Amino acid sequence: MNIPNKAIQVKGLQKSYKQLHVLKGVDFEVEKGSIFALLGANGAGKTTIVKILSTLLRQDSGNAIVNGFDVTLHPDNVRASISLTGQFAAVDEILTGRENLVMIARLRHLRHPRQVAGDLLKRFGLSDAADRRVATYSGGMRRRLDIAMSLVGNAQLIFLDEPTTGLDPEARLEVWKIIKELAASGVTVLLTTQYLEEAEQLADRIAILDQGRIIVSGTLADLKKLFPPAKVEYIEKQPTLEEIFLSIIGKKQNN
Ligand code: ATP
Repeated sequence: MNIPNKAIQVKGLQKSYKQLHVLKGVDFEVEKGSIFALLGANGAGKTTIVKILSTLLRQDSGNAIVNGFDVTLHPDNVRASISLTGQFAAVDEILTGRENLVMIARLRHLRHPRQVAGDLLKRFGLSDAADRRVATYSGGMRRRLDIAMSLVGNAQLIFLDEPTTGLDPEARLEVWKIIKELAASGVTVLLTTQYLEEAEQLADRIAILDQGRIIVSGTLADLKKLFPPAKVEYIEKQPTLEEIFLSIIGKKQNN
């Protein structure tokens, strides 16, 4: 079942939380090096899918292969090849940006943690703020640091769960730019979002999750084909009695 150019293959995924049947047979595939957006309303099950794919949660049935490894059979290999950025920035406020990155690099047993941190700070435009406590960062800076932290250790696939929720438009643009750069460098990105515009801006492919299943999936152009083309209508506007009256009165008064 493992296909080499696929970063993710999901088939028949089901998950219930007690009586609540959240995933009822989810199928999709993600090409390596692409950006895939999973869209859905609040509570549709997007985070549940991300948790299963990142081995934080076990599915009830169906299977998922991530970077060639089955999430149930080889969770350690899956974990070593991915990174996950959750909905809420997981950075340590008391530490500086640099200290946060060095800490993760040490936890990942990398050889030159300070160099790794320095490179990422530069890449994410955080060099100037590197030695300030994260508590003083703006929302956009935190989110950039959060994404930088998830890149420590060269993950091939990154999960971004609602990466721009709560950010102002400018910070959102910054994060979009970073996500595009990541994909351009060959990293596969699976992002979940509630913003159609975000999916439109970033994703190579979009899937919409509804009632426990993927109801549509494809490129933006594919999705647009599902809807009738925009229609331009010309309306002949008849004058109202009031307008006729006013125009006659106006003419009379002008004479
Ligand atoms: P959001 O956009 O709000 O983050 P989501 O699409 O990510 O939503 P999930 O977080 O996957 O949705 O949740 C799907 C459903 O499962 C929701 O109804 C949620 O309340 C429920 N749920 C999630 N986690 C649990 C849990 N541990 N126990 C019970 N119910 C849960």
